Amino acid sequence: MSSNNHEILVLGGNMGGVNAVHNLLRSTIPTLKRLNPSKSYHVTLVTPNTDFFYKIGSPRALINATALPYSKLFRPLSEAFSQYDASQFTLVHGVASSLDASMRTVTVTTGTEEKQIQYDSLIISTGTTSKSPLWTLHNDQSLTTKALESMHTELPKAKTVVVAGGGAVGVETAGEIAAAHPSCKVTLLSGSHRVLDRVKEATSIRAQDYLEKVVHVEVVHNVRVDIREKSTSI
Ligand SMILES: Cc1cc2nc3c(=O)[nH]c(=O)nc-3n(C[C@H](O)[C@H](O)[C@H](O)COP(=O)(O)OP(=O)(O)OC[C@H]3O[C@@H](n4cnc5c(N)ncnc54)[C@H](O)[C@@H]3O)c2cc1C
Repeated sequence: MSSNNHEILVLGGNMGGVNAVHNLLRSTIPTLKRLNPSKSYHVTLVTPNTDFFYKIGSPRALINATALPYSKLFRPLSEAFSQYDASQFTLVHGVASSLDASMRTVTVTTGTEEKQIQYDSLIISTGTTSKSPLWTLHNDQSLTTKALESMHTELPKAKTVVVAGGGAVGVETAGEIAAAHPSCKVTLLSGSHRVLDRVKEATSIRAQDYLEKVVHVEVVHNVRVDIREKSTSI
């Protein structure tokens, strides 16, 4: 990197990475340039997905294609960054596979090619990867779309659904399925003695009341899933 240019490399283009890029280009870099006008900055975002995934909407989106339309669940990254020109920002569709901190380089795979990208500052926002692509992107968003479509086909036929996990995602998913499919028996397995065990107890009680009394979900506590037979799993 030239001493006058500072390259900021961001890995992972979803919740954290997209916000980091906007914040850098709209706020941090203009402030730094005011302090030192001779210095220039450039941001590169490396991510395999072409679209931003509003994963918070997944429990609703898995019900059917209209409950939360794909146009709201996925938004093109190119659109999100169209306001920045190439001197400020570059979007690379690829996967970061290794990091050499001493050389300040990241190896990125794009299709069949592998290349090194140098950085002065590095932001790693690659998130976590859940087993199911319903909750997190698995590289490109196509697997997430496929998993949602599979739910749209299978859920209306299901007589019973078991949701494992009594945290926010499990509670919301069980509630959405039970509300949309009242004739389906929905069971929520919570690994703790109460659902939403990270929030105050009154909220847990309200959530469980709603699940049991309004949408008729059976809630079973202190159960941990460790064997899963081959079936449709979310
Ligand atoms: C159903 C659901 C509901 C939620 N509700 C809330 C809520 O109400 N409030 C809240 O605060 N949080 C909520 N969360 C959690 C929140 O979505 C996550 O904390 C957040 O998405 C984490 O952001 P991130 O950028 O770290 O990771 P992600 O959003 O998962 O993004 C990771 C990005 O990195 C990319 N990536 C992965 N590996 C690589 C690689 N090797 N190279 C390059 N790119 C890579 C991925 O493709 C993706 O673009 C919810 C999560 C779910 C699933």
